[in-house]
Amino acid sequence: MTPEPIMTGLAKGEDLVAFITGLCVANNITKASVQVIGALERARVSVYLQDKREYVEIAYDQPMEILAAPGSVSLKDGKPIVHLHLCLGDMQGRAYGGHATAGNIIFAGEVLITPLPGAPLVRGYDEATGLPLWTKI
Ligand code: ZN
Repeated sequence: MTPEPIMTGLAKGEDLVAFITGLCVANNITKASVQVIGALERARVSVYLQDKREYVEIAYDQPMEILAAPGSVSLKDGKPIVHLHLCLGDMQGRAYGGHATAGNIIFAGEVLITPLPGAPLVRGYDEATGLPLWTKI
């Protein structure tokens, strides 16, 4: 049976990706769509250098708005993994973004996790990109 959707506030001071992952683990959610809006005390994103096949982290040690944060929940190594991207706004309204890593400290916000029915979605190593992508059907 597909778990019920979760719509809740974010906990100030917590790590964003870890907080959402914890909600998924606690509620047996392994396949879902995720949306977040809110604000961070500081932000950490990464971008993938396609030619070097490595992520580079970008740090924003300042308050940032979460303008949009779409994501997914699937399985990697048998555990739920939250894949979240962040479109962030600074205090002048300029936008930045990337792949959400550890270290995004929540100021306030809202998350909606919508579980999806059907077979589990599993991440595995993809030779063509060097990334842990969904297994092709
Ligand atoms: Zn990503």
